Amino acid sequence: MSDKGTLAIYWAASCGGCEIGILALNEKILDVAAAFDIVFCPCIMDTKARDVEHMPDGHIDVCLFNGGIRTSEQEYMARLLRQKSKVLVAFGSCAHEGCIPGLANVTNRQSIFETVYLDSPSTDNPGRTLPLPEVQHNGFHLALPVFYDTVRTLGQTVKVDYYLPGCPPEADRVWDAVVAILEGTLPAPGSVIGAQTTVCDECTRTRSEKKIKAFKRTWQVWPEESQCLLEQGLICCGPATRAGCQSRCPTVNSPCIGCYGPNAGVEDQGARLITALASVIDSNDAEEVERIVREGVPDPVGTFYRFSLAHSLLRRAALVPDEERHELPLPRAAQ
Ligand code: SF4
Repeated sequence: MSDKGTLAIYWAASCGGCEIGILALNEKILDVAAAFDIVFCPCIMDTKARDVEHMPDGHIDVCLFNGGIRTSEQEYMARLLRQKSKVLVAFGSCAHEGCIPGLANVTNRQSIFETVYLDSPSTDNPGRTLPLPEVQHNGFHLALPVFYDTVRTLGQTVKVDYYLPGCPPEADRVWDAVVAILEGTLPAPGSVIGAQTTVCDECTRTRSEKKIKAFKRTWQVWPEESQCLLEQGLICCGPATRAGCQSRCPTVNSPCIGCYGPNAGVEDQGARLITALASVIDSNDAEEVERIVREGVPDPVGTFYRFSLAHSLLRRAALVPDEERHELPLPRAAQ
């Protein structure tokens, strides 16, 4: 029997970028393979849920779980992997905060199904057929996972031991986490693994007093390459975003979009960013401030909560009562 540790990697509502983040370890992936037997990873191996069901509880030493919880199948796998894992890591922004899939919390299942299966210009569906969770057909019982109205984070679904933020997590931070696991130097359970400061703290651009008369879109300006982007009117999420990426986007003249989530001590990234922007608008006139925001921020949710809506204090748009049938009680996440 192998004396290696056991590792599971699973994806739920996500894009696959977190797996690329693991591959970005490059040759260090051989060190991971030397330390762990990968016992479950449907992305690269023909492993099934029943393989996990047959494992004793706690058999998996470390599970890297990426993706939010959008369906009943994902919720089942989250609960199963929690039961079978000693250490469960919410790996990447979707598991940590909902990320892009969580933006669908501005709408609901019915609206999403109507757009995808009925109304999109490329859809040919004259029978207006919609997916159902259970169907009887020719004597067979067919079942699909239930599609929830709300995307939840992993931490809103099961107890999570650690959070590794990023969309995807930077390879260096993934490696830091692997080393911490192997050397037993992980922080206290429930912690975010990584930096505690903001992207601004890592950014090398020069900062002076910010006085903004207009917010600009990235296609409207060619930014000066050494001055703070926010001072140039571009909405940069650096003041409200956890460090760990070496300010990768501002370094290449593009504003931070917030993928590492809120920095330590901040519960709601969008609220923190709104506060930061409100403090740099150069006007005391309410009408002018409203115009600057209206003209410069055409997509407030996508700007302030692009990665964190599901985990925010808002969490989602209000549901009318009959939409709540697939909603489960929501424990407040530790992070
Ligand atoms: Fe750098 Fe953006 Fe912070 Fe300015 S706001 S210092 S560009 S990360």
